[in-house]
Amino acid sequence: MRTDVVVIGGGAIGAAAAYFLRSHRKPCTVAVIERDPTYALASTPRASGGVRRLFSLPENIRLSQYSIPFFERFATEMAVDGESAPIGFKKNGYLFIVPPGSIETLRANVEAQEREGVRVTWLEPREIAAKFPSMRVDDLGAGVQSPEDGWLDPHSVLQGFRRKARSLGAEFIADEVTGIDAERGAVRGVRLKSGRSIATDAVVNAAGAWAKEICAMVGWPVPIEPMRRYEHYFEIEDPIEPLPYIKDVNRLAFRPEGKGYSGGLPDLAEPRGFNFEVDHGYFERVVWPALAHRFSAFERTKLRSTMPGLYDQNELDGNMIIGPWAGRLENFFLLAGFSGHGLMHAPGSGRAIAELILDGGYQTLDLSRFGWQRAADGRPYRERGII
Ligand SMILES: Cc1cc2nc3c(=O)[nH]c(=O)nc-3n(C[C@H](O)[C@H](O)[C@H](O)COP(=O)(O)OP(=O)(O)OC[C@H]3O[C@@H](n4cnc5c(N)ncnc54)[C@H](O)[C@@H]3O)c2cc1C
Repeated sequence: MRTDVVVIGGGAIGAAAAYFLRSHRKPCTVAVIERDPTYALASTPRASGGVRRLFSLPENIRLSQYSIPFFERFATEMAVDGESAPIGFKKNGYLFIVPPGSIETLRANVEAQEREGVRVTWLEPREIAAKFPSMRVDDLGAGVQSPEDGWLDPHSVLQGFRRKARSLGAEFIADEVTGIDAERGAVRGVRLKSGRSIATDAVVNAAGAWAKEICAMVGWPVPIEPMRRYEHYFEIEDPIEPLPYIKDVNRLAFRPEGKGYSGGLPDLAEPRGFNFEVDHGYFERVVWPALAHRFSAFERTKLRSTMPGLYDQNELDGNMIIGPWAGRLENFFLLAGFSGHGLMHAPGSGRAIAELILDGGYQTLDLSRFGWQRAADGRPYRERGII
């Protein structure tokens, strides 16, 4: 078999890449290799679903500025044969809250967001209290609300991209990539567990937390590690006012979900690895005290479930790596390392990789500063904000 582009990994990122490669004005043939079409361990269906413009780097803000309106149109744009693709987008806003010591960073971030045309509202603690009377604000310095952000259902995003990409001619193959053939500075094809081989002109590594293993097949050492993070679902007894997606500087992040709330508190010191065990004491030890400190209503919280999932953590700077292994394998593209904000940036980064491959350069969003060169040079390009 032969195809113009092989995409390795059919999660949100691989499926979005396939969609944009097929919907491009000069489309190419695409095969997406996904070893588990049930996505049992994939990160996408385990994500919290938050989508926000509250970043400090122009690239991340622009990716959100492109992706969030895309999600608003998603149901109709991804419709297949008249059947829409709802993703449960709840535009209930985001709220970042910081202690007095972080006001300057928050202000600099807001300035960066406003330069990019994001509508954000600066809130003093008393204004936060007026909007969200259940919240403790006496130890806060300020907050920033982004009313047009929100959250959506990650699995529906994945399935929507996948179905639409297939309807446009992308082939999804249930198999595992076990080897990559390269010669004279270019990838020539991929080998699959079933024994099949696929000849190709370009490969996109969209294997998420497994991306490093795929890069190792061609000898490319990348700083992307699997990092376990829990998403908890919990309920309280007495209802409080409707909340936006709330995030603080200690990484507490949660939002309303059904009768309760969904969220967590990622630990960056978590040992790296493919660990799907649940530490049943984590919520009570780490998450609950942070919740109860901020909202007395959460003192009596009932934890209903804990779901482990993996970040594709870029150890260099917590941002994606997009683009080819420049100077070595110009047709082997990496699209991973999203470190906890991959779902919200799937549309923008999927489009960007399609442009890189089919137009030979970025057309919509210039993501060159997220390229491999910064890792090769050991020059991190970090978010100043809280992520
Ligand atoms: C608890 C949690 C909460 C999160 N919350 C958010 C959030 O609120 N907002 C946000 O934007 N992001 C969030 N994220 C991050 C987000 O989930 C990821 O950035 C995103 O889903 C990455 O998508 P992906 O397609 O790269 O990875 P995946 O969905 O993991 O897909 C990669 C696929 O590659 C396949 N694969 C691997 N190796 C091979 C191989 N050799 N051959 C064939 N297939 C292979 C795997 O089977 C897998 O299906 C969260 C993540 C977690 C864990």
